[in-house]
Amino acid sequence: MKGLVAPVMAGDLPLDSPLPRLNHHGRYTAARLLVRLHNRPMGEIVVPLAQRPVTPGQLAEHVWPQIGDRVAKHCAEDGIPPPARLTAAGLVRLAEPPCTAGRPAAGRPAITVIIATRDRTGSLLRCLTSLSRLDYPAFDVVVADSAPRTETTARALAGEQPWPYPLRYVRAARPGLAVAHNTALAQVTGEIVAITDDDVEVDPGWLAALADAFTESEATCVTGLILPAELETQAQLLVEQAGGYGRGFNRRTFRRDMDFPSPLFPFTAGRFGSGANMAFRAGWLAGSGGFDPATGAGTPARGGDDLAAFLRVITDGGTLVYEPAAVLRHWHRRGYEGMRRLAFGYGVGLGAYLSSSLCTRPGLLGPMLRRAVPAARHLLGAGSVRNENRDDRFPRELVWRERAGFVAGPFAYAASRRRYRDFRHTGSGAAPALAGTGTAPGTAPGTGEHSVAAGEAR
Ligand SMILES: [Zn+2]
Repeated sequence: MKGLVAPVMAGDLPLDSPLPRLNHHGRYTAARLLVRLHNRPMGEIVVPLAQRPVTPGQLAEHVWPQIGDRVAKHCAEDGIPPPARLTAAGLVRLAEPPCTAGRPAAGRPAITVIIATRDRTGSLLRCLTSLSRLDYPAFDVVVADSAPRTETTARALAGEQPWPYPLRYVRAARPGLAVAHNTALAQVTGEIVAITDDDVEVDPGWLAALADAFTESEATCVTGLILPAELETQAQLLVEQAGGYGRGFNRRTFRRDMDFPSPLFPFTAGRFGSGANMAFRAGWLAGSGGFDPATGAGTPARGGDDLAAFLRVITDGGTLVYEPAAVLRHWHRRGYEGMRRLAFGYGVGLGAYLSSSLCTRPGLLGPMLRRAVPAARHLLGAGSVRNENRDDRFPRELVWRERAGFVAGPFAYAASRRRYRDFRHTGSGAAPALAGTGTAPGTAPGTGEHSVAAGEAR
């Protein structure tokens, strides 16, 4: 993905459909496509685009050498003969591919989807619309409105609802992503809690893939693949270069006792996934006290809520599964200024996550210190796994902002702990801290009275 110049087309390429013609108007410099077979991701390819459109035949010739082996491997797993080649007509479409056949339509776990939002009603509605296309029988949705400055979201979700699924609205009186998630946890009815952000669009197969990963493994937590919804600006390409959100196209399982190639395991929690696409067994999440309220976007700690939860899954002896078939697309910010804030915020969140983990699990100090030297190499080294996607044009400024953020992280977390000290978080045993009860200083008068589950009656 190095060396791309915006605008780049981002999209899907199902191999078992006729291939499309790309770049009608010569607008894009390249296309970055998620190649799928039987609706499962095979990998991503980049197609360079010039002024002239790419015909389906040309596309097939370009794609096949890059993805043919992967397709053959999948067909072998499915026990079907591998295709010899790809043509403009696409591969044969199977009514019931072996990899999805035999899955029970009934008896799948009920899932509650939590979406935290703050003053981005349009973006939230786009996300909710994508949930209407989910091909999953049993799910409901809880929208957690995080200390909103306006009533726009509450009004948009009041009254008659166009969504084909049950939706509840709760409000957290204090800002903070973890507080919003904990507030929503009290409303969870499903066996599984799937958490995403208001600036994504989920794939129709998202929940089914998450559910299958839970059913087929002993997972406590399952994370999924996050791809860009668009790559119209250079800043959006930078988000991807900075490490992006993608974590590859193979299912991976992480456990405390595993023989892991990285000396930093399990502290490189960013490798496990990201908070915009994560799911937990509801019992585990509630039983372990939910998320650390002093972490997450909207707090001084700016992030770290997801990573701290992933680490807790591993250190408590649980299993974390990364499942790329659980795919969704995230709308990265378009402007460079947003990227500068993101880089600093990401560093702060990383420092805060380690601090939060130490506060809830002081026993981690020894293992953390033993990894200090490889950790520095991981953070700073140009060739490290973390930084390998960055090319020469990756702004040094962003690198330094992230490092500065990392150093500031523990202090930011300390400040956040003080600010959120009335929200207890033990990291184990306690019921999720309830937010939204009472009005915090600085919030608009009257928000408290609409507090938790204000939307129950909606
Ligand atoms: Zn298959």
